[in-house]
Amino acid sequence: MDREKIRSIRAETPGCRNVIHFNNAGAALMARPVIEAVEAYQRDEIMLGGYEAAAKNSDALLRPKHAAAELVNCAPEDIAIVENATRAWQHAFYAIAQTMRPGDRILTANAEYASNYIAFLQIAQTHSVGIDVVPNTQTGELDTEKLGQMVDERTKLIAVTHVPTNGGLVNPAVEIGKIATQAQVPYLLDACQSVGQLEIDVEEIQCDFLSTTGRKWLRAPRGTGFLYARPSAIEKFLPAILDDHGAHWVSDNGYALLSGASRFETFENNLAAKAGLGAALDYALSLGMSEISTRVEQLATDFRQALAAIPGVRLHDIGARKCGIVTFTLDGVPADDIRAHMSARNINAWVSRTKSTRLDMVGRGLEAIIRASVHYYNDHDEIERFCAELATIKPG
Ligand SMILES: *Cc1c(COP(=O)(O)O)cnc(C)c1O
Repeated sequence: MDREKIRSIRAETPGCRNVIHFNNAGAALMARPVIEAVEAYQRDEIMLGGYEAAAKNSDALLRPKHAAAELVNCAPEDIAIVENATRAWQHAFYAIAQTMRPGDRILTANAEYASNYIAFLQIAQTHSVGIDVVPNTQTGELDTEKLGQMVDERTKLIAVTHVPTNGGLVNPAVEIGKIATQAQVPYLLDACQSVGQLEIDVEEIQCDFLSTTGRKWLRAPRGTGFLYARPSAIEKFLPAILDDHGAHWVSDNGYALLSGASRFETFENNLAAKAGLGAALDYALSLGMSEISTRVEQLATDFRQALAAIPGVRLHDIGARKCGIVTFTLDGVPADDIRAHMSARNINAWVSRTKSTRLDMVGRGLEAIIRASVHYYNDHDEIERFCAELATIKPG
């Protein structure tokens, strides 16, 4: 992406004129085509009525499924459009969990997201299932050699977060997929922080399920997400919950499931947001994921370098390859104070805390760290501005 391209992308992002946004791992700024899709849909609902607006916009409402399929390299039938990444993940996890028996085991990674781990703990307690956390390598990724040694006939699921919420780490999703495939163990990838940031190909990764959100790197409205489900996994794992969209009531005592991943969807949704998700996916596709990921990684590398030059800054990103999530602390200054300082100057960052990725944070002796996540529409002026502000903060 050259300077001119970035300039036009920024011009298409109204939020860029208002804030320096380094909270893209929380919720990225929407681009104008996304905003317009949401507003046009909302107007139709206001003027025509909700069901009538849906009928008029039926093509636009199919777009998310097709565009998501293109983005992650699968068939549209393998995609379920849902409310958020957590729901997407839960649909997959609880479908698999229903099949678990006492003594079965779940394999996961050290930086697993809290919502996922809470679900593991729940099923561990109700189904007498064990949880095994695969150790990291020296550089911080999940150690695939250890994973290979830990998988056995009791392993009923490998569930891993691709990019953890609290740092630049990228877990080796493809290598994990090779091990899962060879061992014939279901593989659920939480790709909430990687879809829209990195190139994702479910055929290369060989995952059975992949979950993600709209609001983060895809720049879609909040309250949107999707699930990829491999056809063989759809056959094997029944949804844990159903409504009359995912299944049809075909006789007094019978129902028929929809074929494909649609069985994981529900009838009711925020359709304006769904139209926005379609536009956001199209926007990412038109820019190209290879261009996007190259730009994000470059910006983040430059950001880390600039931060490292500031006295008292400690960077906390682990992993050999680092993505767009930049994390650090400043000696003697609480992370919350830094965020407040930046916020008062229209600069958005976030604080990652123990509670989101407990095992990883406690293991590294961290409680609260600043998360400054860069997207392709950020620029070097913004990074300079952030670092200049940071350099003025003196330990209390
Ligand atoms: C944000 C996040 C989620 C949850 O996404 P929602 O859209 O809020 O459901 C799940 N996993 C990871 C790694 C995340 O960072």
